[in-house]
Amino acid sequence: MASFEKVLIANRGEIALRILRACKELGIPTVAVHSTADADAMHVRLADESVCIGPPAARESYLNIPALLAACEITGADAIHPGYGFLSENARFAEILEEHEIVFIGPKAEHIRIMGDKIAAKQTAKRLGIPVVPGSEGGITDDDEAMTVAKGIGFPVLVKAAAGGGGRGMKVARTEDDLVEALQTARSEAKAAFGDDAVYLEKYLGKPRHIEVQVLGDGEGGAIHLGERDCSLQRRHQKVWEECPSPALNASERVEIGETCAAAMRELKYRGAGTIEFLYEDGRFYFIEMNTRIQVEHPVTEMVTGIDLVNEQIRIAGGARLGISQDEVIFRGHAIECRVNAEHPETFRPSPGRIEYYHVPGGLGVRVDSAAYQGYRIPPNYDSLIGKLIVHGRNRTECLMRLRRALDEFVVDGVDTTLPLFRHLVRNQSIQDGEYDIHWLEKMLAESSVEA
Ligand code: ADP
Repeated sequence: MASFEKVLIANRGEIALRILRACKELGIPTVAVHSTADADAMHVRLADESVCIGPPAARESYLNIPALLAACEITGADAIHPGYGFLSENARFAEILEEHEIVFIGPKAEHIRIMGDKIAAKQTAKRLGIPVVPGSEGGITDDDEAMTVAKGIGFPVLVKAAAGGGGRGMKVARTEDDLVEALQTARSEAKAAFGDDAVYLEKYLGKPRHIEVQVLGDGEGGAIHLGERDCSLQRRHQKVWEECPSPALNASERVEIGETCAAAMRELKYRGAGTIEFLYEDGRFYFIEMNTRIQVEHPVTEMVTGIDLVNEQIRIAGGARLGISQDEVIFRGHAIECRVNAEHPETFRPSPGRIEYYHVPGGLGVRVDSAAYQGYRIPPNYDSLIGKLIVHGRNRTECLMRLRRALDEFVVDGVDTTLPLFRHLVRNQSIQDGEYDIHWLEKMLAESSVEA
């Protein structure tokens, strides 16, 4: 099987370590890249080689394409794994690597490009038989046309920026009277944030859950699904807690949506790992977007299926077929992930600084993916993720019991963390009952105190 001489990891933090581990197990040497702010980072220490690619600002280091190409040249790396964030969904980056005969460990550039454009993504999903949110066919420029479409969908409707991301450029119009103002606000927000004021309309779902399906494709028409993740616990559209399986789905819904996604990926000839995200309400799925990369929450799927997703990504990029067939994907038990951030648990103010004392939980079914260590100084320049606590149990009840005790063992001193929030959540009745939608967490935070 074709493999790589050396993989350069164009990322930092826990995901850089995650990729490094997969490479080690495959016997592939690794190159870490880092900014000057990350000279002492764990991924730099554990890689076989490292190259400093620039100053702290991401745009001059982790997003600096010429510096990454130079690092490949110096070290002889013949593939790059982009991780998540940074350049992972940059189609042009994937093309540039191809022009330099460096393998991009990820999907084909054309698929990254389609899924990066919300309107094109939705049209593609619809063509592939994936259920979408009812809405306008494409972008809408005319207010009268918008009104006609909105009446057709039925209020409330959501005005969304075509170039959107991170929840920006999105406005709800509850009634006809709100529509013109919602259109104007969404357009100007979109123009300011993305330099593009194209918007489209969707039916607004009032109490959906966020459920996403993990897929793997070999680029030749082979594709499987690895079940779903429920990521409904969110704050400001940022996922906080993810679980597999979703407490809201029954077995036949699970198989049906998974098979729909896998069939769509076979038709698309999708390559690598991907996630198809849906809102789910009243027993129906509505496509919102596809992420063409490994996601932060991928470990919950790994814990339940026993399949190493990063290993699969690397093998597929090296030209191998899928290592597993759909029949061989067996779902066992339940897994939950908590994203432990260096943030105040109530105000969510980032809390960079030195970790004075660090103790991670252990024992059966407990996994911590983190690049932190005692004495590590969390730089203020990047996201505030300290680590992910992922817990597996034979069923959801056992998983919650195990999560509760693992959270109680976890000690991070010196910076504020979101650990108290999770200790509160794991004891909450609605969480224990699996009854929450995408607005639940923000409502809970507005109503009660979580400070330990
Ligand atoms: P972005 O790319 O800006 O993150 P998404 O389309 O992924 O935009 O939507 C982000 C979030 O906005 C979703 O997770 C959901 O919380 C909410 N949302 C998106 N579309 C709808 C909709 N039609 N109805 C209700 N909420 C929605």
